[in-house]
Amino acid sequence: YFDVSPPLLNRVIEGVPRQTLKAVDGVNFEIARGETFSLVGESGCGKSTVARLVVGLYTPTRGDLIFEGQNIAGLTRKQMAPMRRKMQMIFQDPYASLNPRWRVVDIIAEPLRFFGLTSGEAETQKRVGELLNFVGLSAKDGVKYPHEFSGGQRQRISIARALASNPEFLVCDEPTSALDVSVQAQILNLMKELQRELNLTYLFISHNLAVVYHMSNHVGVMYLGKLVEVAPARVLFAKPRHPYTKLLLDTIPDLDMKGAERAPVAGEVPNPINPPSGCAFHPRCPFANDRCKREAPQAIALPDGAKIACHGVEEGRIPAAA
Ligand code: SF4
Ligand code: MG
Repeated sequence: YFDVSPPLLNRVIEGVPRQTLKAVDGVNFEIARGETFSLVGESGCGKSTVARLVVGLYTPTRGDLIFEGQNIAGLTRKQMAPMRRKMQMIFQDPYASLNPRWRVVDIIAEPLRFFGLTSGEAETQKRVGELLNFVGLSAKDGVKYPHEFSGGQRQRISIARALASNPEFLVCDEPTSALDVSVQAQILNLMKELQRELNLTYLFISHNLAVVYHMSNHVGVMYLGKLVEVAPARVLFAKPRHPYTKLLLDTIPDLDMKGAERAPVAGEVPNPINPPSGCAFHPRCPFANDRCKREAPQAIALPDGAKIACHGVEEGRIPAAA
């Protein structure tokens, strides 16, 4: 038990051109080794920003990122180098993240060469073949280019590439969102198998609660750059309590991923540059009162392991059932 321990990210402000946007703020969570922590929320809530902060693609202006006991927030590229091998990222669109002009063998061999993990070309080729087999592809597929594969196969190639450096921690940003539902399930199952075999730790980003239900040990629900509810997955799905979590759960027809997703939650997501006062969710919340409009709720810890930032929950006026 270790890995990314608290406070992972606390008060992070991301600079964007011409304006400073508080993209993520007060986001605290920890992930135990070998487990999956999922961040869920609508697009623009800051999930991807957290993912990129965690792997060092963005630099936090404040806060801590503890990886294996070391605070890696604000380390330079050079200082991060020993950690880079251990953390890899899988993106939503494998086609965009795979160089279209490279053969698959070279795409997967790149991290092997970069980190000096194999000695000599023969060993590199052998290892690439093993990695392809590992994700359910054939070693012979190495001679082809990314466009010769289906979306699901391309995501398998991205996974093989991510695994090449023997990582311990994978950040997966909507890894199956671009795929058909049946292919999604195959990739999710592959990811779960790999996690078991290699004792991988996942930070899993998704807007789809059905996907999150299948993958997670713990779930964090984000709204406008803040974590509004963090809970063990079984607690969150059995007893969603934050009004936003309830609304998100109402948008999925069933957790077996059979039906299509329903329309997103009623109401517009406000502009994150100028969020509403008090609880940022109050314009959309059926339980909002005057206090909600004035005062931002702080997270409270509940006996079942959930942490929820909501006045209504704290005041006991929101029922636990969905
Ligand atoms: Fe709704 Fe108030 Fe809770 Fe915000 S704090 S989610 S507005 S009840
Ligand atoms: Mg995103």
